Amino acid sequence: MFSYRHAFHAGSHADILKHLTLIHLVEYLQEKPGALTIVDTHAGAGIYSLKDGFAAVSKEAEGGIFRLLKFIEAGNPTVESISKYLEFIYAENMGGDLATYPGSPFILARLLRPQDRLKLFELHPKEIDILRHNIGELKQAKQIDIYAADSFSRLKGLLPPPSRRGLVLIDPSYEDKQDYRFLEAAMEEALQRFATGCYAIWYPALSRRESAALPDRMKKIAASHKRSWLHTELRIENAPGERRLQASGMFIINPPWTLEKHLSEALPILTKALGVDGGAQFLLKSFEA
Ligand code: SAM
Repeated sequence: MFSYRHAFHAGSHADILKHLTLIHLVEYLQEKPGALTIVDTHAGAGIYSLKDGFAAVSKEAEGGIFRLLKFIEAGNPTVESISKYLEFIYAENMGGDLATYPGSPFILARLLRPQDRLKLFELHPKEIDILRHNIGELKQAKQIDIYAADSFSRLKGLLPPPSRRGLVLIDPSYEDKQDYRFLEAAMEEALQRFATGCYAIWYPALSRRESAALPDRMKKIAASHKRSWLHTELRIENAPGERRLQASGMFIINPPWTLEKHLSEALPILTKALGVDGGAQFLLKSFEA
């Protein structure tokens, strides 16, 4: 426990899939003026340096955001959801060279309208201090609550949100394989209390049993609550050994109808831009309840 630091993975291919999807979900939900409550159950530190510290050691951003930027700058065609995602990344770098990468708390904070609220959970004793410091610098800080608590057990207490309009990002590190079990229990409770919320679950697509079973477990939970879902995966390589993360997925419960179209445009481009061997591919499936 607590060996995971998201700075190692900031700006990786997995962050790109997650954050691009997240931006679309928020913008869709904001088409209506009613207040939106967003819960980020696993926040991390909020924003990361790409020039020094853990990210500079792991170099995961080289195969992620830097690779995507090179691809776009080389004149390859892009689509609206990728351009929009890149705007958020540029915004944290004041249009200059890429030195920092915003995590989900910063991306979400930037999206908040005055009527919206953001709730962040973080359990790591060092990350929570960095997160509090980073969020304190933002002009949206008053709209943001930060909890140093286990989100799997505390999520239900925030549901349903007062406005009954909510988005929950669930992005565990899966450092502890119990996270898979905690996720299922938390989703069961969440859907019992707030069936109409939009839930976006990120997971590493690994051959490990718990990870491979996750999409089917989520489909079962969605079906038992008569909910629609969308399932996507982005694989950048298929090499033996899985020494580094080669693929990740998002499972969305109650997805907006627009999401599938956006991802069907973006995924072929991301696969081409980020793919490193012939195993690069994507998956996109949905079910309407
Ligand atoms: N969502 C972030 C982003 O996209 O920028 C990345 C989050 S990272 C994958 C997962 C984080 O969850 C880590 O910082 C970890 O310390 C924290 N964490 C792990 N278990 C937790 C729990 N039960 N409740 C709250 N936070 C937890």
